Amino acid sequence: MQTPNLNQNNGSRIVLIGSTSVGKTSLIPRIVEHKFDQFTTPTTGTSFFPYTTGNPDHPTVQLWDTAGMERYRALNRVFFREAVGAILVFDLTNYQSFEELNSWLNEFITESPPNSVVVLAGNKSDLSEKIAVTDEEIEAFQNEHQLKYFQTSAATGENVDDMLHFLLSILPKTTVETTALEPPDNEGGCC
Ligand code: GDP
Ligand code: MG
Repeated sequence: MQTPNLNQNNGSRIVLIGSTSVGKTSLIPRIVEHKFDQFTTPTTGTSFFPYTTGNPDHPTVQLWDTAGMERYRALNRVFFREAVGAILVFDLTNYQSFEELNSWLNEFITESPPNSVVVLAGNKSDLSEKIAVTDEEIEAFQNEHQLKYFQTSAATGENVDDMLHFLLSILPKTTVETTALEPPDNEGGCC
């Protein structure tokens, strides 16, 4: 696995989380370039994408994709550390992906910084005739965890921008840590 880049100067880290095949990788080009890539590959290793938001509080953020890593749950700790935002994704046409939301959310909350925020995305809304999760079930989950919900489609782009704008609006402001870049203070040193 590629070692995650721990440099925070590129903006806050936002991770896309949820079960395999819900559309996490497909949502990234939708967010960043407003396009849909149907042939996403589930290769392992973390990938991250700098994204210029237009939001003055968060001019750039880093979008982190699991790139297939969701199969190896033990690696999540590294992935979630320092993530101040998460897009928690399930597939509206796959009930199991909805049931698995709880464990994803719990892991994220356990491993991420205390001020981190989460937004819920029910993806593949374009496949309306195949929807397998009821509005009531989604609402119950939303209420239980106090999450804002967006019904999205990486294929058509429905609600993807709105979801991201909302997430940016609740994302904690981070102060860039510059002191680490300064040379060490040699005063009082030996020799
Ligand atoms: P990931 O495993 O969560 O990263 O899921 P992917 O982004 O690789 O998507 C899994 C499959 O679902 C791919 O075949 C995508 O083309 C397809 N897919 C993703 N998002 C959507 C969507 O909004 N609508 C439809 N119809 N298909 C989607
Ligand atoms: Mg993927």
